[in-house]
Amino acid sequence: MKVRLYSSAAQFSAACQNVRALGGTLGLVPTMGALHSGHMALMHEAKRLATHVAATIFVNPTQFAANEDFGQYPRTLDADMAKCEAAGVNLLFVPDVREMYAPGDSTRVRVSGVADVLCGAVRPGHFDGVATIVTKLFVLAGTCTAVFGKKDYQQLKVIERVASDLKLPIRVVAHPIVREPDGLAMSSRNAYLSAENRRRSCAISRGLSKAWRIFESGERDIDPILDCVRTELAIEHLQLQYAELADADTLELFGGQSRLSERALLAVAAYCDKTRLIDNVVLGEDLDPLQ
Ligand code: AMP
Repeated sequence: MKVRLYSSAAQFSAACQNVRALGGTLGLVPTMGALHSGHMALMHEAKRLATHVAATIFVNPTQFAANEDFGQYPRTLDADMAKCEAAGVNLLFVPDVREMYAPGDSTRVRVSGVADVLCGAVRPGHFDGVATIVTKLFVLAGTCTAVFGKKDYQQLKVIERVASDLKLPIRVVAHPIVREPDGLAMSSRNAYLSAENRRRSCAISRGLSKAWRIFESGERDIDPILDCVRTELAIEHLQLQYAELADADTLELFGGQSRLSERALLAVAAYCDKTRLIDNVVLGEDLDPLQ
């Protein structure tokens, strides 16, 4: 069956309601497009969990700061549509900016706590933009199962808070990180990397894997675990923005002399030249990133 394309919010919302009116269930996969196998894994998971899948493609301006890559972000709509079609996506919502932010739009959804640390600390306003657009998409989609990737682990936690705090009829499901064969977490931004930088970027997943291994063999001190990441990044001269250990649910940072619990998020953000890359592993829960 052909994927049905919507640019109107009202028509997309009506189509979602129609799925339920006819006795179906809806799986929702919000994306910014430039779809890769990580996105497609989310679509397949949504298909497994619901009778119909709605994907959305929207490069959301409010989650980019003025100095960030909103203008350059890859936009590959024709290829994206073909991938959605092949994956059996039923509804594809591709609004323009004015459709999601009409003139005069001034409402923002702000999450505190989980949104304030890690990427929230270095990208002020980013998660306000994320929470706002995802709330709008949730309102349009209505009752559904929404699938998000653990690649953006903090985003997932922010969205879980939004759905729960605002009592939205949305079940949020997390999907594991999908990686390239050499370990690099798939990302639309990997398209920015030259062949040499693409190679250097593997230092991130290598560092996470080393940290995973020492955690598995019993290490619970913070510094040796963070050093695994710092050392690998230094070897390839990647510029570390942060490497942090945090409670995997509240994202409260472990610091100082504290020792880790049996489950902890290890999150990294680093620049390879001008390309910002993020990656993470939940120690005590996830498999070895390089497995
Ligand atoms: P984006 O288009 O980058 O905003 O991502 C859309 C959704 O795909 C988010 O839920 C991401 O977490 C998820 N995603 C992106 N890359 C990956 C990946 N490598 N593995 C799993 N999920 C991913």
